[in-house]
Amino acid sequence: MNRYAGRVVVVTGAARGIGAGTAQRFADEGARVAVLDLDESAASATAQGLGAEKAVGLACDVSDAAAVERAVFAVVEELGSIDVLVNNAGITRDNLLFKMSEDDWDLVMNVHLKGAFLMSREAQKHMVPAKYGKILNLSSVSALGNRGQANYSAAKMGVQGFTRSLALELGPFGINVNAIAPGFIVTEMTDATAVRLKMEPEELRRLNAEANPVRRVGAPEDIAAAAAFLCSDEASYITGQTLYVDGGAKV
Ligand code: NAP
Repeated sequence: MNRYAGRVVVVTGAARGIGAGTAQRFADEGARVAVLDLDESAASATAQGLGAEKAVGLACDVSDAAAVERAVFAVVEELGSIDVLVNNAGITRDNLLFKMSEDDWDLVMNVHLKGAFLMSREAQKHMVPAKYGKILNLSSVSALGNRGQANYSAAKMGVQGFTRSLALELGPFGINVNAIAPGFIVTEMTDATAVRLKMEPEELRRLNAEANPVRRVGAPEDIAAAAAFLCSDEASYITGQTLYVDGGAKV
């Protein structure tokens, strides 16, 4: 399929993990792709490896308004427009409530919620005049509640409300806004969770696979496939939705 020929796709936090897998899928389907991440060299290395018709890697801390403005400007300068935005950048700072610091709370809110807000606000400046756009936000099954993740869970449910509100505001301008809520996906984020739980990553994956209705854990490609559908024109009557891509295993 070549659903994204002529389209420009921006993926945040895309140097690795789900973001990199998603950037790869859009590149495979013909898009010009911008890989945004904290580390410019990591972002550029991923961008170069996509084999896209054109790809750029840019440094951008999504929680920094000035950095977001600079990055979106650079994307439009270098790739010509911004048709699809995937708000994927994310972090965890897990702890039980009584041990959770104010910094752990603020950091998680700033990357997931403020980051999606800043990126979307900047991107819509280009999408609204074009009367075309797709915004996809990464939520999580943890939105439904997860022990030790009060900050992350609140942010990821916040992402769902944010998604619905943007869908209502931007629909009249030809812009679809949806969210994907992944279950357990094998990335450095879930490997770090294993370390926090004093487990080998393979052990945590095995336990999650055993408990999952489809008896496996997810891969970035599982999320990328759903992203490529939700941001396509085939999905133009779908907006404001959160699609759980979790093998059926909500927390
Ligand atoms: P990951 O492997 O940890 O990758 C996240 C990427 O985001 C990293 O490259 C990271 O850069 C970057 N990043 C962090 N803070 C950023 C910021 N302020 N601005 C720009 N980039 C930033 O995580 P992942 O597992 O691929 O997760 C991707 C998204 O899916 C996240 O929103 C996550 O919450 C969500 N999700 C993941 C899972 C899962 O099971 N993996 C499940 C549900 C939802 P550094 O390396 O420099 O920190």
